[in-house]
Amino acid sequence: MGQPQPGKQTPLVTRQPGQPDTLVEVGPVTFGGSRVVLIGGPCAVESQSQMCAAAEVVAAAGGTLLRGGAWKPRTNPYDFQGLGREGLAHLAAARRATGLPFVTEVLDPRDVEVVAQVADMLQIGSRSVQNFPLLREAGASGKPVLLKRGMMTTVDEWLSAAEYVLAAGNENVVFCERGIRTFEPALRNTLDVGSVAVLKEKTHLPVIVDPSHAAGDVRYVTALARAAVAAGADGLLVETHCDPEAALSDAAQSLTPDQFKELAASCGAVARAIGRDL
Ligand code: PEP
Ligand code: MN
Repeated sequence: MGQPQPGKQTPLVTRQPGQPDTLVEVGPVTFGGSRVVLIGGPCAVESQSQMCAAAEVVAAAGGTLLRGGAWKPRTNPYDFQGLGREGLAHLAAARRATGLPFVTEVLDPRDVEVVAQVADMLQIGSRSVQNFPLLREAGASGKPVLLKRGMMTTVDEWLSAAEYVLAAGNENVVFCERGIRTFEPALRNTLDVGSVAVLKEKTHLPVIVDPSHAAGDVRYVTALARAAVAAGADGLLVETHCDPEAALSDAAQSLTPDQFKELAASCGAVARAIGRDL
């Protein structure tokens, strides 16, 4: 028994010599191609009208995938926990109104089936990245999976988490860097832009960045988003709310519709500078 060899622990996730990028399709949206995918929407689903209004904003700015949490992983048990199944119905209504597919978080392995029946893509949140039964269930659902990085997860641990999904027969995994905990308290988390470059080399799967949870503050979201695109991210996941001050979660990092539109334009310029589009 020697040291584990790189890549041997995660044979399905690791890029084999010469292996091309895997494209992950979510309805009409392709992750891993030349177009940088923009995902937008509120942190939490709060009502049907809130979700539909946010969806219009995302579509108008050139976003192609909608987000919104129906089940929210809250640090404090007395904080708003999400609308659950009712939230899923609001997401589906927003999809009907705009044509945008949606991604939403599934927190509990027992909810995978009900979420997979409605959602276009399942999000595994930071706090769940090493919930192995949840990873297995999400894998078995056959739905594309957006796998957030844990705030304390190394790149290799994150790759191993993805391996659980692939080992369950589901190759449609997209990694999402969202910042890690470091000694630096200036931002909510420290965006590890380097992990994008490392993952693009280590795995054939797409990698996107969530600048919202990394920054935790609207003043910094766009700068981090631009850095992510410049580093080679295949997409961005950005929180936006039509009335950020009234948002029931993550208000401080939620962009107004105008700020979201500006982010899209400015990241589009960065994408074009490196031969991509957004
Ligand atoms: C979210 O996307 O709203 C979320 C809870 O993200 P994370 O798991 O990265 O904290
Ligand atoms: Mn959030």
